[in-house]
Amino acid sequence: MRQFVCYNAFMTIKEYIKTRKEELKTEIALMKVKPNFVIVQLNEDDASNAYVRGKLKDAAELGINAKLIKLDISTSEAELLKLIDKLNNDKAVDGFIVQMPLPKQINEETIKLAISPDKDVDGFHPLSKLNPCTPQGIMNYLKHEGVEFLGKNAVVIGRSNIVGKPMAKLLLKESCNVTVLHSKTSFEDMYRYLENADIVVVAVGRKFLIDDKFKFKPSAILVDVGINRDENGLHGDILPERPVKFQTPVPGGVGLLTRLALMENVLKIKRP
Ligand code: NAD
Repeated sequence: MRQFVCYNAFMTIKEYIKTRKEELKTEIALMKVKPNFVIVQLNEDDASNAYVRGKLKDAAELGINAKLIKLDISTSEAELLKLIDKLNNDKAVDGFIVQMPLPKQINEETIKLAISPDKDVDGFHPLSKLNPCTPQGIMNYLKHEGVEFLGKNAVVIGRSNIVGKPMAKLLLKESCNVTVLHSKTSFEDMYRYLENADIVVVAVGRKFLIDDKFKFKPSAILVDVGINRDENGLHGDILPERPVKFQTPVPGGVGLLTRLALMENVLKIKRP
């Protein structure tokens, strides 16, 4: 049984993932019928291949049956919709995803809406019972670490449908005072809101947008969702090592939480 303790210092994300995976492995080992998860992939760029490999590896490690269906990059929207319909109606499939981004001839929104909300483990469908994996993964971790939400000032930068908006919704559900900032927010306002924030989630996609000009409370918790690639590797949206209570690293931070949340979503569908 997991003990609920209030941590003075944060467990690193890698330690947390290891602990949580052991718990999930034990739960799945006890299941008579293992969860069945399917990934549909069309795009074969390096990033998509790496994401798909990671998801298959996580599933294998936990004991989830995972199957990859690779379609040609020239597949039409109608053909993909036909496959989605088949997976929606296949009783042996608990949950599935279509790996984004998709080739130009296919409308991503159409695909997100075609996946049955009952099997949508990415949590992209507006009627899905599950939340998108990135905000859900962040919340799972912050809750595990005993972070207090009630009445705290939470600032989310970015308002996308898969990260910013659902993140704000989840923080609001925990009774935070939530402010959402975006591309039309002035730097002057950003400085002002962040200075007063207890929890900050940045999901923009601009290397070190939050630099050393921003001041924080020493007790602030900073969650960096951004992934920015350059010749020196991967970087977040926040300059590392801000003088705060805790800051998630990039790489080795939110990406790992997102991967784990996907596996947890597959399990949520399978649980009675
Ligand atoms: P998006 O492009 O859909 O949204 C970016 C948001 O940032 C927009 O809402 C926009 O209003 C806002 N924005 C743009 N410029 C800004 C500025 N100068 N100041 C304030 N806000 C600004 O992106 P997304 O899908 O939400 O992803 C955001 C970042 O997070 C990207 O780097 C993406 O790669 C990364 N990401 C990481 C994970 C993970 O698992 N680690 C998951 C999803 C996305």
